[in-house]
Amino acid sequence: MKSHAPKPDIERVIAEIEKNKGLQPVPLFGTERTVIAVIGDERALDEHHIASLPGVSKVMPVLQPYKLASREARKEPTTITVGPVTIGGDEVVIMAGPCAVESDKQMEVAAQEVKKRGGHILRGGAFKPRTGPYSFQGLGREGIEIMARAAKKHSMVTISEVMDVRDVEFVAQHIDILQIGARNMQNFDLLKEVGKTKKPVMLKRGMSATIKEFLLAAEYILMQGNPDVILCERGIRTFEDETRNTLCIATVPIIKNLSHLPILVDPSHGTGKPHLIRPMARAAVAAGADGIMVEAHPNPIESQCDSDQALSMEDLSEMIEELGPIAKAIGRNLATL
Ligand code: PEP
Ligand code: MN
Repeated sequence: MKSHAPKPDIERVIAEIEKNKGLQPVPLFGTERTVIAVIGDERALDEHHIASLPGVSKVMPVLQPYKLASREARKEPTTITVGPVTIGGDEVVIMAGPCAVESDKQMEVAAQEVKKRGGHILRGGAFKPRTGPYSFQGLGREGIEIMARAAKKHSMVTISEVMDVRDVEFVAQHIDILQIGARNMQNFDLLKEVGKTKKPVMLKRGMSATIKEFLLAAEYILMQGNPDVILCERGIRTFEDETRNTLCIATVPIIKNLSHLPILVDPSHGTGKPHLIRPMARAAVAAGADGIMVEAHPNPIESQCDSDQALSMEDLSEMIEELGPIAKAIGRNLATL
């Protein structure tokens, strides 16, 4: 649409597209301009008719296989505001907290500490996708409630993983941002289900997914009408065994070029080693990441999950402090609460 096209013009175009049962209009609202993406067989679209409607700037094909996620469809970056935090704007955000929710006390301390140390969003897993079935699987719905209580007390925005379509509604009721883990990046039914919610979704890169597959997975969520997708690079599997995964920092500028969606980096799962987390967090911010997700525990050795990669709260402070000047050096700032 033309910039600042009036609402009735936008609605008219949507209605005209809807007349054709084979086509699905998906409006992408921007501050300047609205783009109406049309999904379906392009032969079914009467391009000249649509182009002649009032308010239409131009009709153009999107060549990338991920249509809604692509920069072609939307030039301006997607920004997602949750409470006092905006993701994808000028400011860099920090998500931190334990790998797993363990108890009221642990999450209570985690919420307080993460906030005090300069973190913006509290993380914690209640549904844990563990490699082995005998490992701690998380507290499930009870864990979600624990997390929500702790976050509420300290006014923190929350993010937590959902693994099963049957839990999506419950998690969406209690948690601010739904996380899709690496192992579920191509669980298409789950992607569609979180796409039907009104909650932002952070999609982690599958451990053997290409960037194209990553963006196509995001497309499944966007297609359902949920525009608030955040991407997260968390490392991929390679032959290298010095690190848990091989953290691909190049993903950040690649995604920035291909897509308008925000991209975060998780150096915790990306490296699996505490002494590598800070340098890789610095690299990620320098490369233009919109935020960092890290695992930090009030008492790392007691952590029931991923204890060997958990930062202490002191480490978290030091990491956050050194990210400020790096963000500034590339014309950004760390977010403040
Ligand atoms: C997590 O962030 O809790 C997690 C399990 O990470 P990933 O899905 O990237 O392995
Ligand atoms: Mn973990």
